[in-house]
Amino acid sequence: MSNHLIPCSDAAASIVLFIDHELSSPEQYQILELHFAECQPCLALMEHERATISLMQNLLRNSCNEAAPIELLHNIQATINTLAANTATAFFSQTTITEFTFDGTTSIEITQEFTQEIRHEFPGE
Ligand SMILES: [Zn+2]
Repeated sequence: MSNHLIPCSDAAASIVLFIDHELSSPEQYQILELHFAECQPCLALMEHERATISLMQNLLRNSCNEAAPIELLHNIQATINTLAANTATAFFSQTTITEFTFDGTTSIEITQEFTQEIRHEFPGE
């Protein structure tokens, strides 16, 4: 192993950076690739590390993509139902009658305004 540009300890120390593409220069990639090409133990170590990292990433990705538990969905639906059952809707109407005279003719204008109010009565309040 004396013909390597870098010792195995240096190669091993850079394996994670090599896998993550975080080495600082293209020369370092060439040096490591050369080392892996000539050094079976370091190549095996690198491939093991790469497989481990890939496995970890897959595990993380799968756990983050996990669907919400069905109990949670049921609880949310139950809460929505409870809130809907305690919701009162009230309508208010206001009638305005305006009498005015224009050019000797008397007119009556009637306007009606509707106001809708939705009241939420939250349980436990
Ligand atoms: Zn080596």
